[in-house]
Parts: sequence; C-alpha cells; structure tokens
Amino acid sequence: MFGLIGHSTSLNEARATARKLGYPEYADGEFEMWCVAPPQLVEKVTVTSPTGQTIEGAYIDSVFVPEMLSRFKTAKRKVLNAMELAQKNDIAITALGGFTSIIFENLNLLNEQQVRNTRLDWERFTTGNTHTAWVICQQVVQNAPRLGIELAKAKVAVVGASGDIGSAVCRWLQRQGVGELLLVARRPQPLIELQSTLGSGRILELNEALAEADVVVWVASLPQGLSIDSGSLRHPCLMIDGGYPKNLDSLVESEDVHVIKGGIVEFWQDLGWQMMQVAEMANPKRQLFACFAEAMLLEFEGIHTNFSWGRNNISLASMERIGDASLRHGFRALGLELVRGAQLAAA
Ligand code: NDP
Repeated sequence: MFGLIGHSTSLNEARATARKLGYPEYADGEFEMWCVAPPQLVEKVTVTSPTGQTIEGAYIDSVFVPEMLSRFKTAKRKVLNAMELAQKNDIAITALGGFTSIIFENLNLLNEQQVRNTRLDWERFTTGNTHTAWVICQQVVQNAPRLGIELAKAKVAVVGASGDIGSAVCRWLQRQGVGELLLVARRPQPLIELQSTLGSGRILELNEALAEADVVVWVASLPQGLSIDSGSLRHPCLMIDGGYPKNLDSLVESEDVHVIKGGIVEFWQDLGWQMMQVAEMANPKRQLFACFAEAMLLEFEGIHTNFSWGRNNISLASMERIGDASLRHGFRALGLELVRGAQLAAA
C-alpha cells in the first residue's frame, strides 16, 4: 500500500474542505484548534496502471496549513504525527507532499525518530523529489521547442538551483545539453559548490537571470511580495512553476511568456479520489503532484525504500529509473497542450 501526506494551501481552504467533508467542528474552529488537531486518513484509493497492475493507497491530511510555518513546534508535530499515522496503518511507502518534506529537512526531523511508542522507519517514506525533478526536466525538454526555443542554444535559469530538486534539474539539463545554465538562489556558497561540481553555469541575481533567460525553472517557494517586471523578460519565454504554492502565473501576465505548472503529472485514466480538487488542479481526477506519483510508482515497482531522501542526493540514474516507471505506469508531465486543453474544456 502507498500513502500520500498532504495539507491544504491555507486555513480558509482547510475550513472549506472540512465543511465539504462533513466536519463542522473543524470548519468553524479557530486557528489554535487547528494547531492541535490530529492528522486524518481522509481517503483510500485504488490505482490501476496500463500494465493491468492494481495498487491500493491512502491520503493522509496532516492538518497542517502554511500559516503554521512560523510555529516550528506545531509544524514539526504535524509532520511527525502524520508519518506515525501512515506507519500505524502499515503503509509501505508514503510521499511527503507540499511543505511536509521541507519541514522534515529544515527542522531536522531525522533526530526525532521516536513518536510516542512508534519508532519511525525512514525506509517507509520518500520526499518524491526524484520524480519531481525528472518531470520538470521533461517539461523543459518537451515544451521549449514548441515555443521555438532551441535548447542547445538556450539560456536556462534555475531559481533554487542549489536545492534538492534544483540541483538535480541542473545536472540533468547539463547532460541534456543547454546553451547555458543560469544559477539563482539567495546564498552564494551552495551555488559556488554546485557550479564547481557541474563544471559550468553562471551565478546571477534573480533579476539579471530573468532578463537573459529563454527558459526559467522555479524550484523555490516564491517570497511573498515578489514582483516580476514582465517587460524585462525575453519573448518567447517558457516558465516552469515548480515551487509551492504555484502562483507564478498571477505574477507574469505577458504575451509570449508561457507558464506551466511544474512537477505535475497527468494519469492515463481518472483516479477515483477527491483530494486533488483541494489542490486546485485543472483536471483533479487525473492530475497530481509528481512527488505523490513517486509513492505510487515505488509501490507499482515494489521498491519499498526511501528512494528520495536527504538533500542533494538525486542521481541521474535514479531519475531515469523513476522516469521509466512513470511512463510505464501511465503518467505524463503536464505540458502546454494539456494546460490549453484543460482551459478549453473549462470554457
Ligand atoms: P530545497 O529547500 O532543497 O531548495 C530550495 C532552493 O530554493 C534552494 O536553492 C534555496 O537556496 C532556494 N531559495 C529559497 N528561497 C529563495 C528565494 N526567495 N529566492 C531564490 N532562491 C530561493 O527545496 P526542494 O528542492 O525540496 O523544493 C523546492 C520547491 O519545490 C519548494 O517550493 C517545494 O515546495 C516545491 N516542490 C514542488 C513539488 C511539486 O510541485 N510536485 C514537489 C516537491 C517540492 P537559498 O536558501 O540559498 O536561497
């Protein structure tokens, strides 16, 4: 059985979902009540691959909301409690979605293995970042040519280049062969180390990189209040919005600047679940975060281990392995035509 640990994108959204699911005490509850609420196993789902193989899974809502990010103890408790619930349900492999993997890493939860009487078994969990990185690379490679961008000559900016997903994307794109990688993050030292392992790439400030880039891969959560001068962007420009939350399209509205929701895949048939409705997917019955899909893929493939774990460990070989499984089991990366198709369907 696979598991997915997720959360709502805001307290208001969490309240609305609680009302919809028939939990009025949560829907009307104050923030403090949400802070102490336990995780919920919300939904079970059966997933069938085009190969005919069928697997079972469960979605666990950690009852975390981003408003809790500054409350370190609360955030930590939410993630650990959700992991404990997954393990107690004997789920073999569970993906840490949304902010939960970032909380796990940044608050160093590796040191918090004991949760009450449960010793967490790390091998049962994955960040899902290997599949996310692979999907984002596919989104670049498949969609840039559709806009007339020749990757072999293109400048590709990676915002969040020194991160777990960003560094894997840089390694993959370098091997793929792009004109030049533009490396962006706040701290210089990790970028210098990345540049030295890549043996190439130019370190730039965000605004400098945006002015030069034909393709921009965003794999950092955008700071609140960020504004982008659309006039300074190149035309055409392909932007892959791989951060969380996915709000880039509201910042860059300009003709010939094309934003794709990054790290999102579409399954080959409808999934009988409600949960992606909450994540505001264009086609919630089929579309999901690539990190969640990684748990499904590991279950399909019988790889019951923490496939994506720690920081900056993602190898090209593991990206290829999960990428092959992704195609075999009916996932494909969201691209320009899928976005446009969904918009047309909605019209
Ligand atoms: P990491 O913490 O490993 O990396 C984050 C990177 O972003 C670092 O390079 C960091 O460097 C940089 N960064 C952070 N803030 C800023 C900023 N304001 N401006 C420029 N750079 C910044 O995170 P992950 O690689 O695990 O995840 C990256 C993003 O991807 C997150 O937003 C996460 O939520 C999202 N994600 C999306 C998924 C999906 O959609 N399917 C799945 C998993 C994750 P520095 O601190 O030096 O700035």
